[in-house]
Amino acid sequence: PALVRLEHVSKAYDTPGGRRVAVDDVSLEVREGEILGVIGYSGAGKSTLVRLINALELPTGGRVFVGKDELTALPERRLREVRQGIGMIFQQFNLFRSRTVAGNVGYPLRVAGLGRAERDARVAQLLDFVGLLDRAYSYPEQLSGGQKQRVGIARALATNPRLLLADEATSALDPETTADVLALLRRVNRDLGVTVVVITHEMDAIRSIADRVVVMDQGKVVEEGEVYDVFSKP
Ligand code: ADP
Ligand code: ADP
Repeated sequence: PALVRLEHVSKAYDTPGGRRVAVDDVSLEVREGEILGVIGYSGAGKSTLVRLINALELPTGGRVFVGKDELTALPERRLREVRQGIGMIFQQFNLFRSRTVAGNVGYPLRVAGLGRAERDARVAQLLDFVGLLDRAYSYPEQLSGGQKQRVGIARALATNPRLLLADEATSALDPETTADVLALLRRVNRDLGVTVVVITHEMDAIRSIADRVVVMDQGKVVEEGEVYDVFSKP
C-alpha cells in the first residue's frame, strides 16, 4: 500500500521573470516500508517535491495524499500533524548550535510536550541506536560531519515518524562517511520499519540503498522503477 501518493501534481511559482513550473504533472507513490530514491540534476524539482510531501507547500494542481489524508483538503492544524509524522534530514544537518547533542535530539519531544524523564529515556535510546551515546553532552561543532548527520537522524526519529525524508543528506560528506550514513538509513528502514525517501543528485547513493528509483528532470518524472532496471538502461 502507498504511504504517499501524488496524482498529477504540479507546483508553479510566480517569479519576477514569469511563471516557473518546478513540478510538472507528477504522479508517483511512496510504498509503505520501501526505500525510494529520487534522483535528478539541480533544478529538477526534487526539493519542491519534498516540500509538497511534507506539507510545507500545497500543489497548484493535482492531489497529494499522505496516508488517507488529502493535503489540500486539510485545515492548517491537521497539516501540522502530518508534518509532525514525517522526519526530515538535510544536507547541512540543520542542528541547533547552542544545544548539546541530547538537546538537539530531545527538542522535538520538548515541542511535543514530553516531560524531562520520558524525554531523557527516549533520547538515550535514540543516541544508542545511532551510536552516539557517548557524545550526548557534546555540541554540534565538536562533531564530524558524519556524526552530525547521525544526530540529525536521531532527532528526525524522535517522534516515531513513519516516513523519513532525506534531502541531499550525504552530499556534504566524504565517500566513507556517506557509506556509514547510508548504512544507518538502511537500519532505520529494516529495523524500525520506517519508510525512507532519499533525494539526491548522487547516483551511487541511490544505487547502494534504494529499492526503487524515480528520475526527475525539469519538473517531470522521466523514469521510474526498480533500481537495477532503471540504472541498467543505456
Ligand atoms: P532541485 O531540488 O531538484 O534542485 P528545486 O525543487 O529546488 O529543484 O527547483 C526546481 C525549479 O523550481 C527551479 O527552477 C527553481 O528555481 C524553481 N523554484 C523552486 N522553488 C522556488 C520558489 N520558492 N520560487 C520560485 N522558483 C522556485
Ligand atoms: P535543552 O535545554 O534543550 O534540554 P540541553 O542540551 O541543555 O538542551 O539538555 C539536554 C537534555 O538531554 C537534558 O534534558 C539532559 O538531561 C538530557 N540528556 C543529556 N544526556 C543524556 C543522555 N546520555 N541520555 C539521555 N538524556 C540525556
